[in-house]
Amino acid sequence: AGQAGPGLVQRYEPGLGAARDRRERLRADLVGARARGEFTLVWQPVVDLEEQRVTGVEALVRWQHPVFGELEPDEFIPIAERAGLVGDLQRWVLAEAMTAAAALPEHGAPLQLGVNVSPVHVASGTLVGDVAQALQATGFPAQRLVVELTGTTSPAPVPAVAADHAALRLMGVHLALDDFGAGPSSLSQLTGTPVDVLKLDRTFLARVDKDRQTRALCAAVIGLGRDLGIDVVAEGVETPSQLTALRAMGCAYAQGFLLSRPLTLPALVALLDAGAGH
Ligand code: C2E
Ligand code: CA
Ligand code: CA
Ligand code: CA
Repeated sequence: AGQAGPGLVQRYEPGLGAARDRRERLRADLVGARARGEFTLVWQPVVDLEEQRVTGVEALVRWQHPVFGELEPDEFIPIAERAGLVGDLQRWVLAEAMTAAAALPEHGAPLQLGVNVSPVHVASGTLVGDVAQALQATGFPAQRLVVELTGTTSPAPVPAVAADHAALRLMGVHLALDDFGAGPSSLSQLTGTPVDVLKLDRTFLARVDKDRQTRALCAAVIGLGRDLGIDVVAEGVETPSQLTALRAMGCAYAQGFLLSRPLTLPALVALLDAGAGH
């Protein structure tokens, strides 16, 4: 953040006005951020709990802002969505994630690659074309791509969106429902498009080892996945006791700080190479 002049910093005083100023500043700076090479990806491993091995990675976008430093997606994705810039950002993420994942070391089965997509991008109607374009440009196998859809910000899918989902699946791409259980329409989403993966929202994990109700809910989702032939990934595993509870319920996959924080690409490669050693 060394480029910031003192005058610049002083404009962002605490208070409502400062938050709005920051949003407006970010919105202006988002235009061209991609061209300036300011977006990066970090990678969080997905672990197969039975085999105790990394079987996938989720790509998570970061913005290296020249003044504010590293920004997280929860701050800038909503701004990009409102500014009509999320499609452009998403196309970069898709191409970059597939290019990097294609070059990852393979020890055993090739890793699955999870990429998050914004409901606004889905609604814009370009998702299928953008995914197809990225697959073609990178040569990445569609079967290894998992498109993570979040239901928390969109109501039950409209027919056009359901058609997009079906088109992606026809291409061989896997679909995941992200933050499952956190939104108002999670169960009804399962009656729409068939999905391949459920990502159990981390709000459940926070209490899975603490109270009976939460444990029952997690067990129900894991059982639902088993009955429907859908892989369940528990998100946000932070403590050994949460992991123990998940294992006891027969949860197949997990992700979280306990297993690994999101990593830079070199750190991910080192982890994969080390894992192959034992
Ligand atoms: P998400 O898809 O649910 O991704 C998981 C988020 O939880 C990540 O935050 C990750 O760093 C964090 N996390 C992982 N393990 C733990 C844990 O054990 N404890 C806690 N407290 N957090 C954990 P991140 O990277 O800040 O991403 C936030 C959200 O931004 C993502 O939530 C996703 O919805 C969205 N996002 C990330 N990358 C993209 C992208 O390329 N495109 C779009 N449209 N959205 C993205
Ligand atoms: Ca975060
Ligand atoms: Ca996700
Ligand atoms: Ca999630």
